[in-house]
Amino acid sequence: MERRDVGPRDVLIKIHFAGICHSDIHTGRNEWGEANFPLVPGHEIAGTVEEVGSAVEKYAVGDRVGVGCLVDSCRECVNCRAGEEQYCLNGNTGTYGSIGADGRPTDGGYSTHIVVDQDFVLGIPEGISLDEAAPLLCAGITMYSPLKHWKAGPGSKVAIVGMGGLGHMGVKLAHALGAEVTVLSQSLSKQEDGERFGADHYYATGGEHGAKTFAELAGSFDLIVNTVSATLPMGKYLSLLTLDGTMVSVGAPSEPLQVPAFALIGARRSWAGSAIGGIAQTQEMLDFCAEHGIGSTIEVIGGEQIDEAWERVISSDVRYRFVIDTATFES
Ligand code: NAP
Ligand code: ZN
Repeated sequence: MERRDVGPRDVLIKIHFAGICHSDIHTGRNEWGEANFPLVPGHEIAGTVEEVGSAVEKYAVGDRVGVGCLVDSCRECVNCRAGEEQYCLNGNTGTYGSIGADGRPTDGGYSTHIVVDQDFVLGIPEGISLDEAAPLLCAGITMYSPLKHWKAGPGSKVAIVGMGGLGHMGVKLAHALGAEVTVLSQSLSKQEDGERFGADHYYATGGEHGAKTFAELAGSFDLIVNTVSATLPMGKYLSLLTLDGTMVSVGAPSEPLQVPAFALIGARRSWAGSAIGGIAQTQEMLDFCAEHGIGSTIEVIGGEQIDEAWERVISSDVRYRFVIDTATFES
């Protein structure tokens, strides 16, 4: 795979670490039905600047930087101008699987280098190691953005559904924002970890405890963020919201989610969706994480372990993000 030449506004990044997001797996298995192969996945990139173009003023050689899910957008539409490049009306350019400004397919972070326009490069603050920072570029911002938008904070009760890569970041961030945090996981097997990440409560939604959980928590939460990569019985989860509560879907299963109207009507509830976050908010999230000592909880692997890691993610056996040490690609 070749990267484009470094243009005037480009930054050449030596990738040190790349996180494995479940979206890589949905894409790699063509579960969303829109992948163009061959492609190189990876949109949780952390590394250092190796070269900058002549007009680059934001970064210098040696800087610690990251790249998330976006490498470009139109920059002119109302959403881009509002700093919501992820909702670009003319279609943003994804880090992989899109067509770049040079007309060639974009390729992601499971690689040693990437060339990105300076406006889509993030600064990784001192105090977060590059390996623990990589997953913040997708999992971190995907949770931070809806938590901020729906005002998670002191006095609000937030539930995080699914404690995988996104979910564990949701617990850490919602706790740091001051919310009362509950994890809704399939079982209690990760309860100790959840509490260590900042959960105040932890419930199982499956097995023998499932029915009791839904009965006990009915009408409890102001905000539920659903990170699950598969379909769920939405009515049961919506019944856990308070009057005017909101459930936000960030998980993106390939099959449609079905919502019974009365689960919404019964307490003026809302069901919403949210995609990653804009570039400015991603930098805000990184700075927030540095300030609160938050990184991702990771398992670092070599390139030869990617297939095995994907299988473990699919079977919910991830603790809590796999991060590829890209130095292993060169050995
Ligand atoms: P992940 O690490 O696999 O976490 C998903 C978690 O969901 C699992 O750890 C598991 O948690 C739970 N889960 C999995 N299958 C389940 C099932 N059948 N029933 C109930 N719970 C189940 O995945 P991720 O990387 O966090 O990504 C999660 C989803 O978000 C994916 O669909 C991904 O494509 C999507 N995503 C969306 C955005 C966005 O911008 N909206 C960004 C990134 C990713 P427990 O074991 O705790 O139950
Ligand atoms: Zn992702």
